[in-house]
Amino acid sequence: MNRVEVGSYEFDVGSAREKLAASGVEKILLQIPDGFKIKADVFMDFFDQDVIIWGGSCYGACDLPKDIGCADALLHVGHAEIPNVVPDYPVVYLEGRCRIWNDLPNELLKRIDGKVALYAPVQHIHQIEKAAEQIRKNNCTPIIGDGDKRIKYPGQILGCNYSVKEDADHHLYIGTGRFHPLGLSFSLGEEVWIFDPVTDNLDKIGEEERDAFLRKRYGMIAQALESEKIMVMVSTKPGQYRERLAKDTLARGREVGKNMLLTRFDEMTPKEVDQFRWDCAVCTACPRIVLDDGDSFRTIMLTPEEFKIALNLNEEKDWTMDEITKVL
Ligand code: SF4
Repeated sequence: MNRVEVGSYEFDVGSAREKLAASGVEKILLQIPDGFKIKADVFMDFFDQDVIIWGGSCYGACDLPKDIGCADALLHVGHAEIPNVVPDYPVVYLEGRCRIWNDLPNELLKRIDGKVALYAPVQHIHQIEKAAEQIRKNNCTPIIGDGDKRIKYPGQILGCNYSVKEDADHHLYIGTGRFHPLGLSFSLGEEVWIFDPVTDNLDKIGEEERDAFLRKRYGMIAQALESEKIMVMVSTKPGQYRERLAKDTLARGREVGKNMLLTRFDEMTPKEVDQFRWDCAVCTACPRIVLDDGDSFRTIMLTPEEFKIALNLNEEKDWTMDEITKVL
């Protein structure tokens, strides 16, 4: 058998096995996202090599281990390679693909016309073509954009990168969850349809939801205005590492007399961050830490752009999505 099925997802272990065998790898470090760690033994059983399981985090292909110890290669499960994140050891990516597809509902097809831009996270990227076919039959034109150097597939979005966005009459996100289409909607400044091919659910993110989100973010920014002690956080994770941005942010705060601290974290969880008891933290790592999980911290959490707004350096005070295009 060449495929492993876990829940709604399948993994092409056959091709990963071939790549590892071709490069003569004898020991593998296996990195698995949290939801799939419970199936570590299922993945292990498919490989003839010695397998060591990585016990740390695996948020994305941005989160590769610093080193792989005595292993010859890393086998990273679940995500696609981020092309501009290149570690100094070999990596084989075992991408996950959703097995379940429901056709686009008539309710959607009746309401779209003209050009329809399509987007998906990697787990649903293969379903973009199925959607495109239906859209063509509906006399509309599907548009699938190429991304920047952080993106492997046309149409693919990350929670930190929407560079595949295109001009179109309608925008359709295929996948689960709300953060990606919300980020896309901010990045476009337009409404985004959401189709979940697993539950067959159709939904939309529009101005009202963006405004509600912005009210929350401006509430945080207002609290940060009063903050005196502000830490700037840099990630050790190779695909989330933005030290230059952190240093610029530190300098900006110091210029206006704030007490600034530069910190380096592997994990930016409430447990790690809140123990400093500083008023505010500006996170230069994954934007989801602030924008998706920010409520779980006692510390006021801001993105670097939000910090500029707090310091009045962004004169127009426009809120923008924090996107990562390159790491340095
Ligand atoms: S959204 Fe966060 S976890 Fe996902 S690829 Fe970007 S930095 Fe990594």
